[in-house]
Amino acid sequence: MDPDHETLTIGIDLGATSVRVAAYSPPAGLLETSAFLTRISAGPLAIVDDICRNVCRLLEIHGRTRPCAGIGVGSPGPLELPAGRLHAPPNLPGWNNFPLLDELQSRLPHPISLDGDARVAALAEYALGSGKEFAVDSLCMLTLGTGVGSGIILNGRIWHGASGMAAESGHLTIDPEGPPCGCGNAGCLEAYASGTAIAKAAERLFAGGLSPSAHLDPASPLTAANLALAARAGDPHARGVYAAAGRALGIALADLINMLNLPLYVVGGGVAQSWDLLSAPLFAELHRRSYVYRLTTSGGAALQAIPGGTRVMPARLGPEAGLLGACILPLHVPPAVGPEPSGACQASRQSALH
Ligand SMILES: [Zn+2]
Repeated sequence: MDPDHETLTIGIDLGATSVRVAAYSPPAGLLETSAFLTRISAGPLAIVDDICRNVCRLLEIHGRTRPCAGIGVGSPGPLELPAGRLHAPPNLPGWNNFPLLDELQSRLPHPISLDGDARVAALAEYALGSGKEFAVDSLCMLTLGTGVGSGIILNGRIWHGASGMAAESGHLTIDPEGPPCGCGNAGCLEAYASGTAIAKAAERLFAGGLSPSAHLDPASPLTAANLALAARAGDPHARGVYAAAGRALGIALADLINMLNLPLYVVGGGVAQSWDLLSAPLFAELHRRSYVYRLTTSGGAALQAIPGGTRVMPARLGPEAGLLGACILPLHVPPAVGPEPSGACQASRQSALH
C-alpha cells in the first residue's frame, strides 16, 4: 500500500468571518471539515481555543489509524515569518503582535506549518489545480475577495521574501491618484478589484447622481455578486465597474508578467466567478502593456520555452483552495524552527492547567 494512504494532516483556514478546520489525507482528500464563526469580540485566545478544540476532535477521530504528518495554517496578514506573528491585520482587531504560531504550537501535539492565506491558496492551485493540470513548476495566483491577496510559487516552492511578506500584489499601484486603500497607499489593485472595492465603486456612482437601472433590485444590498447579476442583465454602470476592475487586474498582471515571466497566472476568490465580465478589459491591458505577454502568448514569437504560451485564467479550485492549501502545507513546507509541539492535545488554556 502507498504509505500516503496512511498519512493524515490537519488544515486550519483562519478567516475574519469564519474558521474552517479539516482532516485530510493525500489520496482521499478532505476527510472531515468543521466550520465555526470567528469570535472576534472574544479576542484571539478564545479563537485559538475554538481552533484547538476542533483540531483535537479531528485528531481523536482520524488520527487513530493514520499518523499525523503535521498541521497547516493559512492566516490573514500581515504575517511575519518565521516567527508566525501577526502585525495589525486589518480584519482582525486585537490581533496586533499576536504570536499565533507559539500559541497554537503550545497546545497541539504535532508540528505546525503556518503561512499566509493567499499563499496557501496558491500552493493548493499549484499542487492540486491548474498547476497540476498544466504540469508547471511556477505560478502566481491573485485571490479576489474582501481584499486582494496573492501568492507566488517559484520552482515548486512558496516565495516568502525576507520577512514572509512577499507577493503583496494587491497593493501594486494602478493609479497614483486612485481611491484610498486600507494599506495607506492610494489606487492599489485592491482598491479596484476586491469585492469590497467593486461594491464601493458602485456606491460612489449612485451617490454621485446616477440612477440604478431596473436590473439592480433596490431592496438587495449593493454587493459585488448582485452587481455582477445586474451587469450580465445589461446595466451599463455595473458593467463599467467590472470593466474598471478588469482593467486594473490587467495592468497589475502585465507588471507581474513583465517581472516574473512565469508560465501560469491564475485569478481566484469570489470575484473571479465574474471572469466573463473581467476578461475582455483584462486581456486588452495585457496585450497593450506587456511585451513579455505578447511574445509568449498564442501567436507570439517566443513560445518555445512555454508550450501553450503564458496562461492567464480563472483558478480551477473554488472556495476550498485556502483550506486545501492549509491541509497540504505540512507536506510541502517543513514547519518553521520554533517552539516544540505540546506533549498532548490541549483544547484550551484551561485544560492545559489540569
Ligand atoms: Zn493598498
